[in-house]
Amino acid sequence: MIVVMQTGSNEAQISAVIERLEEHQLRGHLVRGAERTVIGVVGASIPPTLREELEHFAGVKETVRITQPYKLVSRELRPSDTIVDVAGVPVGGNRCVVIAGPCSVESEEQIMATARHVREAGATMLRGGAFKPRSSPYTFRGLGELGLRLLAQAREETGLPIVTEVMTPNDVDLVARYADVLQIGARNMQNYQLLEEVGRTGMPVLLKRGLSATIEEWLLSAEYVVAQGNPNVILCERGIRTFETATRNTMDLNAVALAKRRTHLPVIVDPSHGTGKWYLVPPLALAGLAAGADGIIIEVHPDPDRARSDGGQSLNPENFAALMPKLAAVAAAIGRSL
Ligand code: PEP
Ligand code: MN
Repeated sequence: MIVVMQTGSNEAQISAVIERLEEHQLRGHLVRGAERTVIGVVGASIPPTLREELEHFAGVKETVRITQPYKLVSRELRPSDTIVDVAGVPVGGNRCVVIAGPCSVESEEQIMATARHVREAGATMLRGGAFKPRSSPYTFRGLGELGLRLLAQAREETGLPIVTEVMTPNDVDLVARYADVLQIGARNMQNYQLLEEVGRTGMPVLLKRGLSATIEEWLLSAEYVVAQGNPNVILCERGIRTFETATRNTMDLNAVALAKRRTHLPVIVDPSHGTGKWYLVPPLALAGLAAGADGIIIEVHPDPDRARSDGGQSLNPENFAALMPKLAAVAAAIGRSL
């Protein structure tokens, strides 16, 4: 349910509503938009009489039921786009973001070389995994804290904010000390304790869609983060499992356009995991922006044939640099910029 405040309602009136919600064991999330101030009401059970009760409060214009199961992330609560600020880089505004870097941080030389290349080509953030969720326990699982330190070193030199994955609630404090964006991997999309833990940090969170998660489940996972008082969630479509085996996953562009309609949160695409093949990454990156994504995240490696993870879907620096002007052209064609 949403409590819509009258224009010109004051702080005392807003507090009175929130206090009454707390008496009912509910929580009120204040959302101040350009057009209106609303209070999103969430909790296990909303008494049927609450709407009428609140409509008598001073400063309250009306109450509206939210029809979707997710509440705080829904467009019904907040019609205007949320812009997530990542160390000064806005995500979700007119400008599309390009996050690039290796699947895993492998060495100082590798991450520094990649960071310089992608920065030069115009990327706005650096990605790289230090804690890697791998399908096989016998493959490279990341450098751990050393990887985080190398990412911080790359940020120091290039100024690019860092996006890196956190896999367990226990590691959140550690990863949060180095990262600018906490990435929740596809395999962890429904790890609700992890979602709440990253929610409590208040930091930007990149939430990948699960391998077989519906759009509704994905948005409900985002709700877990936002319900902790952290509105800084960036959704990422990274391909889903389908009957098709010719590509690693099927990048679901329907999900991009639909998520943009259902939620106010920014949505980006990951054509690297979405396709699994480096030569399919450029066309799907362009298609992602054309479908309305607020940015892309792409795997780039200085020597993909020698990558310790996901080399087959990583662009080399030349191919990444060649893609950038095409992305800028697509962005311009739909009235946006890179
Ligand atoms: C990654 O970004 O390297 C990764 C492991 O992604 P996903 O969780 O989407 O598989
Ligand atoms: Mn990867």
